[in-house]
Amino acid sequence: MPELPEVEEIRGYLEGNSLEKPVIRVTVPDTRVLDNVTPSSLGRGLKRASFVAAHRRGKYILLPTDNEKTLFHMTSEDDIPDIAKLGPEPLSRGFTFKRFQAIVSPRGNPIHSVLMNQELIAGIGNIYSDEITFQARIRPDRKASGLSDESLRRLFDAMKLVLNRAIELDAELDRYPKDWIIPHRKKGGMCPVCGGALVKKAIGGRSSYFCPTCQK
Ligand SMILES: [Zn+2]
Repeated sequence: MPELPEVEEIRGYLEGNSLEKPVIRVTVPDTRVLDNVTPSSLGRGLKRASFVAAHRRGKYILLPTDNEKTLFHMTSEDDIPDIAKLGPEPLSRGFTFKRFQAIVSPRGNPIHSVLMNQELIAGIGNIYSDEITFQARIRPDRKASGLSDESLRRLFDAMKLVLNRAIELDAELDRYPKDWIIPHRKKGGMCPVCGGALVKKAIGGRSSYFCPTCQK
């Protein structure tokens, strides 16, 4: 599933290539991508309309048209977004350490689950949560409420750094630095810092990879 950097990359592409041009034809090869709309009513709604902007909110792209609002969301079928319920954007200027701390520190569940909870912080999924906790040198299964202010600070800084850098690299995973955990998140993967074997563990139903030596 795409996460914030991937969706931001697509948003930028749409903004650069798809605005202010009338929609000529609408084809829906697979109706499973539609939610609460039939192919024909989507066609009627979009035909001759133009997209006027490309916004991103969390992992979702919003494309308002010049005649009605059309929401494109990229997600799995059982995860229909409720945009109004999404937490703050992690890269927004207003998302300060103080806000991060207020959201994260009361939570009794693992930090991996907290970072991935879209109603707390929008846009982070399994892959980037692993990178953020790896760079902060904190085990993903640590209880959020047990983290020191200093650990929270490292997580906050890693969150901003990882997401910003991923966007700079156009969310192309093969361009990511070799000392990130993302290129090594697979069976038999080794820690790029200490060379030890990475551990895979289910946390809140999702598979997380981490280094038991570097992350405490
Ligand atoms: Zn390590």
